[in-house]
Amino acid sequence: SGERLRLPPWLKTEIPIGRNFHKLKDSLRSLKLHTVCEEAKCPNIGECWAGGENEVATATIMIMGDTCTRGCRFCSVKTSRNPPALDSMEPVNTATAVVEWGLDYVVLTSVDRDDLPDGGSHHFAETIREIKKRSSEMLVECLTPDFQGNKHSIEMVLDAGPDVFAHNIETVEVLHRLVRDHRAKYQQSLDVLRHAKRHKPTIVTKSSIMLGHGEKDEEVTKTMQDLREAGVDCVTLGQYMQPTRRHLSVKEYVTPEKFKYWQQVGNEMGFKYTASGPLVRSSYRAGEYFITNMLK
Ligand code: SF4
Ligand code: SF4
Repeated sequence: SGERLRLPPWLKTEIPIGRNFHKLKDSLRSLKLHTVCEEAKCPNIGECWAGGENEVATATIMIMGDTCTRGCRFCSVKTSRNPPALDSMEPVNTATAVVEWGLDYVVLTSVDRDDLPDGGSHHFAETIREIKKRSSEMLVECLTPDFQGNKHSIEMVLDAGPDVFAHNIETVEVLHRLVRDHRAKYQQSLDVLRHAKRHKPTIVTKSSIMLGHGEKDEEVTKTMQDLREAGVDCVTLGQYMQPTRRHLSVKEYVTPEKFKYWQQVGNEMGFKYTASGPLVRSSYRAGEYFITNMLK
């Protein structure tokens, strides 16, 4: 139906702003660094950039351009079969800016580049290496495409030394055809995560599920179980929000209580942490969660 659901009260939020937030915001201006946090107007920016009690500031940076070769129906990134060539200076420039900026935890993510033979994995790896070269303490999470399941590409990224390897399953198996680009496959995404863990058992692996596309409870449970079986350490669950009217409409606004329930389910399944809430995104307070749950 064309009827749009009303935004429930728990999604009309005030953004809490911390001290660290202003510090980061001021220094960002001079660095020509584009964050997903700002560009997507993410409601969590105050929390992520402030970094909680221990001030572990997290931000997300998109690399490999702003044009994707895929067209997932929930995503507002623009699509083209032939996006512009990669900027060979990007790894160095990104690393320099990120380190100068004074972040504690950076999430590097990218569009999908099915047009490139290596899916952009060398470029991804180089960016990680350039950051680690300049600051070995900075925690780096890579949130990667599926590289069409190419194991060599996955290993390329892992061997560059990120602290966390994330790849999002996005939704339950039966909704893949509706929600994600047809080249993104449920089993393939599980295999990517499984291979990452097998190739580098010490790496922390992570995945994310959007709720609100009409998935059933047992399908969500199954997806979480499948992630656990693929060796995934951390899972996040958040509400799907329609970016524009041309995108897939929201089927359901899942209540905060229900998100708490999924958090419980995740804890019982043995994930090292489960972040679940209406506004949670895969990078939500990632640094804080890492410091408090993974370094124990
Ligand atoms: Fe940035 Fe991700 Fe946090 Fe949003 S959830 S502010 S995109 S790090
Ligand atoms: Fe968006 Fe990623 Fe899908 Fe590309 S592959 S359309 S960036 S969700």
